[in-house]
Amino acid sequence: VQTRIIDGNPIARTVRQGLRQRVEALRALGCVPGLAVVLVGENPVSRIYVRNKIKACAEIGVYSPQVDLPANATEADLLGRIRGLNADPAIHGILVQLPLPGGISGQRVVESIAPHKDVDGFHPCNLGLLAIGQPRFVPCTPAGVMKILEHEEIPVIGKHAVVVGRSNIVGKPMALLLLQSGATVTICHSKTLDLTEQTRRADLLVVAVGKANLVDKEAVKPGAVVIDVGINRLSDGSLAGDVNKHSVLGIASRLTPVPGGVGPMTIAMLLANTVLAAERSLSEQRVATRT
Ligand code: NDP
Repeated sequence: VQTRIIDGNPIARTVRQGLRQRVEALRALGCVPGLAVVLVGENPVSRIYVRNKIKACAEIGVYSPQVDLPANATEADLLGRIRGLNADPAIHGILVQLPLPGGISGQRVVESIAPHKDVDGFHPCNLGLLAIGQPRFVPCTPAGVMKILEHEEIPVIGKHAVVVGRSNIVGKPMALLLLQSGATVTICHSKTLDLTEQTRRADLLVVAVGKANLVDKEAVKPGAVVIDVGINRLSDGSLAGDVNKHSVLGIASRLTPVPGGVGPMTIAMLLANTVLAAERSLSEQRVATRT
């Protein structure tokens, strides 16, 4: 087989173009979508992520104030700021950049965000809605993977999908989305005894672990679609996914590269969730003023 490499950049660009039009429509009705991006401390990688998210917002006309807290901020400080953002009508989405400094409970912070402003989709309420097939906000990375599958017209119904990784932010919601779309889903993780045997059964293999070269050609069924979510910094400073690209070339029918595959989709889906939050708040306002 000739492996087709799926470029996520043009797909993300198409999503962003559609969003720009929806933002214009909202602005014409007097509603400027707002995403608060909260950063605690000085983690240099987090700073880059935050800067990229704010830049992407600006490009489509979303207002995105950065809320900075010092590295020594307490959990109470952060919860206080989130309370303020929950109550701020100019803010439709709240994103708290992870990881948080030690001493702050990520779980308590996520639970403090108003569920209708939780554009990351990490609040238990939103993950629960996803689990019952009534999603409100879908976590951005798995939503981006679904968008890639849709754009590439990759069939999901009746296929055997194997997801490697079971985190609450990637693996689990990914498996739920594939299940909802009609795939038969297997979820693998660090305690899986026969990983290669499991992944070899996949028509669609999604790998979200964070270990370079975890998956090679032995682990891939000929013709399978392979989605590589992992991001690993190698000793020479370059980035790699979880899949050994050279090994699976000629085996997989399609493969997302790292960088340039799933990564660009994640930010695009964050923007999509923010625009959706603003649209919902506007339509609720209209209902409220009519009654
Ligand atoms: P986590 O560390 O939270 O989860 C990793 C998962 O992989 C866990 O479920 C773990 O199992 C499992 N795992 C670890 N080792 C193995 C192994 N040897 N075999 C099988 N499974 C294993 O990571 P995230 O889910 O947050 O992220 C996963 C990867 O995706 C990372 O590389 C991250 O950088 C990347 N990422 C990329 C994004 C993008 O935009 N492209 C966005 C978000 C994440 P267990 O539960 O048993 O510990």
